[in-house]
Amino acid sequence: MAQAKKALAKNSLRRVQRTTRAAVKTYHNYIGGKWIPSESGEVFENINPADTEDVIGRFPLSTSADVNAAVNAAQGAFDGWRNTPAPRRAEILFRLGEILIRNKEKYTADMTREMGKVLTEAGGDVQEAIDCTYYTAGEGRRLHGFTTPAEMPDKFAMCVRQPVGLCGLITPWNFPMAIPSWKMIPALVCGNTLVIKPAEDTPLSTYNLVQACEEAGIPPGVVNLVTGYGENAGAAITNHPSLRLISFTGSTETGRIVASACAERNAICSLEMGGKNVIIVMEDADIDLAIEGALWGAFGTSGQRCTASSRIVVHKKVYKQFSNKLVERTRALRVGNGAAAKTDVGPVINADAVRKIMGYIDIGQNEDGATLAAGGKHLTKGEYARGYYIEPTVFTDVAPDMRIAQEEIFGPVTAVIPTKSLDEAVEIANGVRYGLSASIYTSDVNRAFRAMADMYTGIFYVNASTIGAEVHLPFGGTKATGNGHREAGTQVLDIFTEWKSIYVDYSGKLQRAQIDS
Ligand code: NAD
Repeated sequence: MAQAKKALAKNSLRRVQRTTRAAVKTYHNYIGGKWIPSESGEVFENINPADTEDVIGRFPLSTSADVNAAVNAAQGAFDGWRNTPAPRRAEILFRLGEILIRNKEKYTADMTREMGKVLTEAGGDVQEAIDCTYYTAGEGRRLHGFTTPAEMPDKFAMCVRQPVGLCGLITPWNFPMAIPSWKMIPALVCGNTLVIKPAEDTPLSTYNLVQACEEAGIPPGVVNLVTGYGENAGAAITNHPSLRLISFTGSTETGRIVASACAERNAICSLEMGGKNVIIVMEDADIDLAIEGALWGAFGTSGQRCTASSRIVVHKKVYKQFSNKLVERTRALRVGNGAAAKTDVGPVINADAVRKIMGYIDIGQNEDGATLAAGGKHLTKGEYARGYYIEPTVFTDVAPDMRIAQEEIFGPVTAVIPTKSLDEAVEIANGVRYGLSASIYTSDVNRAFRAMADMYTGIFYVNASTIGAEVHLPFGGTKATGNGHREAGTQVLDIFTEWKSIYVDYSGKLQRAQIDS
């Protein structure tokens, strides 16, 4: 339903744009090594959230016909790619890394234009794709399996990784190059072929990545790009019987739809979903450092990170001091177009996001006891008139069970919650349905380790914000954030390969495991 509304809102906006803009570049899908339009010829527009009159490009509005063609191409290329030695596959990926470095500035500017985040953060997003490419390509000369003793004489036992096969990758808009790279690069080094569908708000960054794959020499059909909306192109990928694995990052609500469809057809499904992350600030913390972390975590990428610090649980002894400083610093943040050097906080992604975030700001103001201490406004005048701008917003005196402290807002809004002890802080921190990232600011090592042990999240930081993951460590979350998989690190190999146990009996006779002693 939410998706349908989003599509409607976008469509009406896009129709308006179409009447006002003439020469806009038309982009194509990439299927079987060719850049081609959607079978229907239909397109959708990619719009700059900082200035909705800036139409970045038209992209194929793909349907199941395009997904079928892409899957056929991936099928045709699979044997060739899986039989290419992994070190050779990796050589191509190292070339890809070089291309990404060479084009970093252009990709960064494209990303800010289509997604809105400030240039430094867009540069970080591209850098993450570069880091992921180099780190994961190194697996081409590892992809370790193992040997182990067999229980019978003259028998050899070992375990190797084999590619899963054809993979469908579905990605969100908030990390438009990093997240596609987290899925594509491991899939490729492991010998899989793939079809990727980026979010409809940010197809250009994935287009750039796929174009770089082509330039690096990845053979036709190994990587296929299909753009379009979730309900049709996304659903067609999720339901396609030949796609053995669906790797999805997005909201928990969509993830549930994807998981059900995969369960129906017994496909492997890896899910990275929403978060309601928390910073705990103890009375012995370096308050200025905690403020820096809170500002960066809550308002970086306009709060649209799955790891955003949307709750800050603060010990009563420093609560006033912390809240006052946070409010003062928040008010000083400069909202604007992410392409401008002076901007601290860019726009949010689209009109639907504005409605959702402003809805939560309303809810927060109506929740008994919570105080709107900074921000709270939808900015619509002057330089903000053509974009989706919301003031960085702080609610104080928030109770842990309020909706603004429980639900993912995915915007520049954070909730400050008072606490009387570490035990209570950890209980509050764990008391949400998500389990992605958490952090503690304290100068007491015992408390840091206590929290580290007791927080049930996939990621934990000490004296740092809830954001800042590095590509060589596993990334993912517990509870409603994930379904037990981890991306990045070497752990991602367990998503994109399946184990094959191999027994070699060189005794020349029948040996019966568990029976012959
Ligand atoms: P979304 O769920 O709306 O969309 C994600 C992707 O799924 C898009 O490509 C979309 O087109 C597609 N999709 C939508 N409906 C579909 C359907 N019925 N079938 C198949 N595909 C469908 O999420 P979003 O708004 O793009 O991203 C924001 C969400 O992503 C937030 O909840 C955020 O926390 C989460 N996220 C999580 C991580 C993580 O690693 N845990 C990282 C980034 C973002």
